[in-house]
Amino acid sequence: MQTPTEYKINEVFESIQGEGALTGVPSIFVRLQGCPVGCAWCDTKHTWTLDEQFQVSSEQVMAESGESENWFATSIEQLLNLFDRHQYQAKNIILTGGEPCMYDLRPLCKALFDKGYTVSVETSGTYEIKVTPETWVTVSPKVDMKGGFKVREDAILRANEIKHPVAMEKHIEELENLLVWATQIPAPLVYLQPISQQKRATELAVKTCIAKNWRLSLQTHKFIGIE
Ligand code: SF4
Repeated sequence: MQTPTEYKINEVFESIQGEGALTGVPSIFVRLQGCPVGCAWCDTKHTWTLDEQFQVSSEQVMAESGESENWFATSIEQLLNLFDRHQYQAKNIILTGGEPCMYDLRPLCKALFDKGYTVSVETSGTYEIKVTPETWVTVSPKVDMKGGFKVREDAILRANEIKHPVAMEKHIEELENLLVWATQIPAPLVYLQPISQQKRATELAVKTCIAKNWRLSLQTHKFIGIE
């Protein structure tokens, strides 16, 4: 397990959040390295490995364009300095992955809030979510994936929003089974997100959102061609 103040990072970039409740919010994305969950359709498979042969400098990672298995290790202070060096303007930080909840994110969240940022984390719900109370938590539950991890009840209970990728009816059933745990007040927002913008998946998501008063999440960044 990682030491609390060192994080392995696959990429850092500034863009606009394209999905879920924070769609449209300018954000600095911090993509943490490492994920054993094993979703077949994962679009960030390059973040899975924690193999040290891919450890490089932060300068090398920041100079790369496109997907890479390379990662760098950083302290919180070094990460904040990196934000300054790149003159990022966004005031919201999105901790994503990979599976960011493999790490204890509390020291990082605290330091970011202390610097005036808002913070959100995107997780599969298969790890304990170690964040500060103010952190916005998006759980995108990954059920029965190859890695054999279970979605945790405490992750559903911590979620501010649940964003579920759907392609077929069984994905809706999976979500309903998990929502039995969602007894928190206020209730989490529930979003359906069609997998890969497929036509059938989109039709299913729209129909189900209307029937259940859930919300539709589109990966808007893919429509306008930004990261
Ligand atoms: S949890 Fe996320 S990063 Fe990990 S395999 Fe699934 S989609 Fe990919």
